[in-house]
Amino acid sequence: MKKTFITLAVGLLGLTACGGDVFKKDEGEKEYGDGLKIVTTIPPLYSLTAHLIEGTNTKLTNILPPNASPHTYQLTFETARALAEADLVVMNGLELELFLERSLHDVKGLVVVASEGIELIKDHHYDDHDHHHDDHHYDDHDHHHDDHHYDDHDHHHGEYNPHVWLSPSNAIVMADNILIALMEGDAENEEIYRRNFEELRGKLKDLQEEIHAKISRLEVGHYLVFHDAYPYFERDFGIRAKAFIEEFPGKEPSARYLAGLVDMIVEKGVEVIFTEPQFSPKLVETLAKDYGLRVAELDPLGSEISKTVYFDMMRGNVAVFEAIFSIQNGT
Ligand SMILES: [Zn+2]
Repeated sequence: MKKTFITLAVGLLGLTACGGDVFKKDEGEKEYGDGLKIVTTIPPLYSLTAHLIEGTNTKLTNILPPNASPHTYQLTFETARALAEADLVVMNGLELELFLERSLHDVKGLVVVASEGIELIKDHHYDDHDHHHDDHHYDDHDHHHDDHHYDDHDHHHGEYNPHVWLSPSNAIVMADNILIALMEGDAENEEIYRRNFEELRGKLKDLQEEIHAKISRLEVGHYLVFHDAYPYFERDFGIRAKAFIEEFPGKEPSARYLAGLVDMIVEKGVEVIFTEPQFSPKLVETLAKDYGLRVAELDPLGSEISKTVYFDMMRGNVAVFEAIFSIQNGT
């Protein structure tokens, strides 16, 4: 009953929005005070949204727990309910949130796909990236003679790489998409959202420049990443991983794929493996030991649910690059 009332109140206020006087004082917290209920899917989207709603009475929650991978996560009953009750769901899109597939039709609120409008990069299976093997049709015991690209059925990966948020300039586009949805869902606070967006855009622009300055000082050598999460980051800053430990995110690499990887490590003189907090590094330890590789951790998602996690994660990753590659450089 309370829920119905709140939704109604938001709707009415939306119609009569005119800035200042809509804000009511001392109304008894929960009755008029509850603003939009927003659910984000991953920590970076939580962080961007948290910047945009600063100063409003919005309830913001995030689905993916810290250090879980969206590629393997399964929705819980509780998060499914939060989704159903949300006024606004902020998702990445590009098949990142496969865990939402069955629940999206239960969402009654607005759904914003934050990656909309971003210049996309094809998944590495589709592009001509310098790959150490040329055939994805092999291995997996149950698919010996399958002639077509069975992986499309087995493992969900879209045509485009979904990790768009790892570019600060993409994050500006995402924040803009979220802004539009916020203003649509809560016109009353439009001014606040706009102001917050301008501030966030400034911070993201500064971050882009800061990272560019830092990375361009480094002599970035050959490295592997755990899965292909960084192409947007790499495109922005002019670097590129030699290969990925996991051929498909969230799936153990096949023995044959690994053999190819090992050949490539030797052939190209790879020196560094970047792990991720979301995945078990057992395989990485073995590879590192056997081939004398240095190991460091990059975080593509953010390890906590907080307003600052986006910036913390990006700066943390850059610091890792600096720690690894400035040594190589002798600077
Ligand atoms: Zn990923």
